[in-house]
Amino acid sequence: MPSIALVSTPWPLFNRPSIQLGSLKAYIGRHLPGVRVRSHHVYLSVADALGYDTYRTISEHTWLSESLYAGLLYPERRDDMERLWRRQSVGLGLRDDFRNLSNAVEHASKRCLDSFPWDRCLLAGLSICFGQLTSSLYFAREIKQRAPEIRIVAGGSACAADMGLALLKAFTDIDYVIRGEGEMPLLRLASSLLKRGADSPTDPVPGLIYRGLQAPSDGAVSQLDRMDDLPIPDYGDYFTLLDSFPPEKTFLPKIPMEISRGCWWRKPDPSGKASGCAFCNLNLQWRGYRTKSPDRVVKEISALVDRHHVLSISFMDNLLPAKRPAALFEDIRRLGKDLRLFSEIRATTPRNVLAAMGSAGMREVQVGVEALSTSLLKKLNKGTTAMDNMEIMKHCETPGMPNLTGNLILTFPSSDDSDVTETLHNLEFALPFRPLKAISFWLGYGSAVWQMPAAYGIERIRNHAYYDHLFPSSVVGKLQLMIQGYRGGVRVQHRLWKPVRHKVDAWGNDYRRLHRAPYSDPILGYEEGGDFIVIRQRRADGDDMTHRLRDTSRSIYLFCETQQPLGRILEQFPAFGEDRVLPFLEMMVDKRLMFREGDRFLSLAVPLRVGRPPPIH
Ligand code: SF4
Repeated sequence: MPSIALVSTPWPLFNRPSIQLGSLKAYIGRHLPGVRVRSHHVYLSVADALGYDTYRTISEHTWLSESLYAGLLYPERRDDMERLWRRQSVGLGLRDDFRNLSNAVEHASKRCLDSFPWDRCLLAGLSICFGQLTSSLYFAREIKQRAPEIRIVAGGSACAADMGLALLKAFTDIDYVIRGEGEMPLLRLASSLLKRGADSPTDPVPGLIYRGLQAPSDGAVSQLDRMDDLPIPDYGDYFTLLDSFPPEKTFLPKIPMEISRGCWWRKPDPSGKASGCAFCNLNLQWRGYRTKSPDRVVKEISALVDRHHVLSISFMDNLLPAKRPAALFEDIRRLGKDLRLFSEIRATTPRNVLAAMGSAGMREVQVGVEALSTSLLKKLNKGTTAMDNMEIMKHCETPGMPNLTGNLILTFPSSDDSDVTETLHNLEFALPFRPLKAISFWLGYGSAVWQMPAAYGIERIRNHAYYDHLFPSSVVGKLQLMIQGYRGGVRVQHRLWKPVRHKVDAWGNDYRRLHRAPYSDPILGYEEGGDFIVIRQRRADGDDMTHRLRDTSRSIYLFCETQQPLGRILEQFPAFGEDRVLPFLEMMVDKRLMFREGDRFLSLAVPLRVGRPPPIH
């Protein structure tokens, strides 16, 4: 029986199977039932060998991940990689040094490589996503050495657009590259290889490129029209591998699942030359936005849970569908399973949708916060305001709502003093909520900033300088890589954002301290007394405060549970003129009980009683 191997090398999260492999295996299995498809989750074997904590730390740091396998690819350059490793691993608490870890990775990788008959395989497919470049190149080389006749195809986000073409040119172990969605080109390639003597499809396949192909830089891709046409992913090989581990090494994995592909946030930037968030390059692979039907989503969740007896599901979508999300999560809730869901969402997700998500089992949402300054959010083309971000952070602090994680992008090119000042001011109001992670901006290949550097005050864009440590100069010069370097105020930006970084660190410490006691309440919450509320404000210095609001003050405060413009507040409470309402709102803002942006106001305290639905106006 002919066979195809699908390979995912380190460093994806070890505790979930690869959605790329699961999806491709199921698709090829459906269309070529006479072909054996085997998925190799090499990263799980390597995580097992290194220890899960060590693997996790390395996998969270791209330059560490890439340098370990670069050392195996180019052993004569190991000193160079080691220097990069030492710089990047300071303070991470890794117990082993570069040499020991490199040996452990090599040993575990060779065990995977030597335990499979690659020479009996027609085709090996490597899924190359973020952080998997050098490990995939190492596996391509080693597989070819063991089976010179095998054909190797690479795909995944690191092969999108010109990055894939450059890989094909620079590494002869790779025979084909798929740009864009993988299912249809991989099927066409496998079908043609199955026909004796055919090395490539007779007709060109959009998205499939190989040496000698005419016009390979054409950006076409092959995509399924309907996501419902995808079979349910096949994660069997991951679970078989995990089941082979001794009991102390097994765990309950998270199951990845897609509801959609692409992103619907396509607002053009002011120049009209690019769209979506200015820093984002997550959608180079996809053309447009497609979703599964709600029925199919519910069926797939049910099937995956029943098949694997696991309740944690991570939606891998760049962005969940905007159409009737509350109804979708209500359908998921009706499954009656105690799911633990994760998803990425926009900051404009309304409170009723968050509540529906919470009821369905959404435990964590990664929210596209990115900034707490509206002027910076505009530069990021995020289509949100600091007020939107504050509102979702507050809602997610409410008991029963999903927990929020999010980033604060510092050092964005063209950000200035006023962005920093606005951020520092707004941070004062965000302190009761789950802290954001401060990250430095990095320039992604294909992002709007990359496409229009002058608009952001940067120039001389090239592959990031750290790649010079990983690859010989003769190679790196040919490559087009995911992380790009640039000139233009990098040091100034780091200086500018330093106070924000300090404040975010302090925020994290205070939040942890205030939540150290088990069952601790939200830092800023209110209790309902009928015609009054009591707001409890816990403070890091221990100087806690309570505030009682009665009658109309209570009503105005509760009316502003979602952001309200002053005009609407005055309309809602016509018996009280602006001369009485505005001073009250301003006093609330002074006490950090409300947030104000322009003429919009938002109450910051969340209901303390668990299970009490927030009032709906
Ligand atoms: S950051 Fe998220 S919302 Fe923005 S363009 Fe990328 S995928 Fe879409």
